[in-house]
Amino acid sequence: MAGTAVLGRLTWRVADVVDVRAETPRARTLVLDVPGWAGHRAGQHVDLRLTAEDGYQAQRSYSIASAPDGTRIELTVVRVEDGEVSPYLTGEIGPGDRIELRGPVGGYFVWEPAHGGPLLLVGGGSGLAPLMAMVRLRAAVGSPAETRLLVSSRSEEDVLYRAELGRLAGGGLTVVHTLTASRPAGWSGYARRVDADMLAEVGPGPAARPHAFVCGPTPFVEAVAEALVALGHEPQRIRTERFGPTGG
Ligand SMILES: Cc1cc2nc3c(=O)[nH]c(=O)nc-3n(C[C@H](O)[C@H](O)[C@H](O)COP(=O)(O)OP(=O)(O)OC[C@H]3O[C@@H](n4cnc5c(N)ncnc54)[C@H](O)[C@@H]3O)c2cc1C
Repeated sequence: MAGTAVLGRLTWRVADVVDVRAETPRARTLVLDVPGWAGHRAGQHVDLRLTAEDGYQAQRSYSIASAPDGTRIELTVVRVEDGEVSPYLTGEIGPGDRIELRGPVGGYFVWEPAHGGPLLLVGGGSGLAPLMAMVRLRAAVGSPAETRLLVSSRSEEDVLYRAELGRLAGGGLTVVHTLTASRPAGWSGYARRVDADMLAEVGPGPAARPHAFVCGPTPFVEAVAEALVALGHEPQRIRTERFGPTGG
């Protein structure tokens, strides 16, 4: 049985694009229906495969941003301007299109309600996507796990899921934003890259032994993980997922 399940995850299957939502000027969420989808855990990703008419193929990974929900999954893609795949996913693809994917992939960067809290979630740019799956799952099951979510975005208009995060905050979930490139007039939140002082202020501190999940561009993830270790967090309680090679 276990072997069958693994084969299912590694097999390419065809998903239907059933909806597309604009999240920000540079990001869209694709709502996919995946016939035969057996579910996923919050934090996992899928591999997408695109095939051009001449047979050329490109493959990229995208985190599942939605909580488990039948055969539906949601992916949020932020456009990388000179990218090969993300401009297509954020511009051209739409309802009625079909796309190849396989997954769910990954068993390490995963939170389940039974793991409890406290949680310290730190996301940079599109790195918020798998953390959003955790926050949505936490809300869906009514988990009381104390959760601090620190979101780093370039500007206010680049903040993903802003309205939904505003609605979900409270009841043990604290959402803190930092804007690294530009701020609207009157902005009173953080206005710099995530650093140790910010992480200490956001908490929970190492004494609370939070499960930390850090996701985003590679330099962001490395800087945050180093800062957490310097603050005294146990390295084995810090889980990281690196999205790309460049800063953001
Ligand atoms: C496990 C995993 C999960 C991921 N989940 C998501 C997700 O949920 N949403 C999402 O938008 N992306 C996600 N990514 C990143 C995604 O796989 C692609 O790397 C991204 O969409 C860029 O692909 P592209 O073909 O447009 O760019 P490419 O043609 O691959 O690259 C073009 C240029 O952009 C640079 N670049 C590549 N990736 C990034 C990046 N992430 N940020 C900045 N510059 C980059 C490259 O170095 C290159 O110079 C994930 C990556 C991994 C490994």
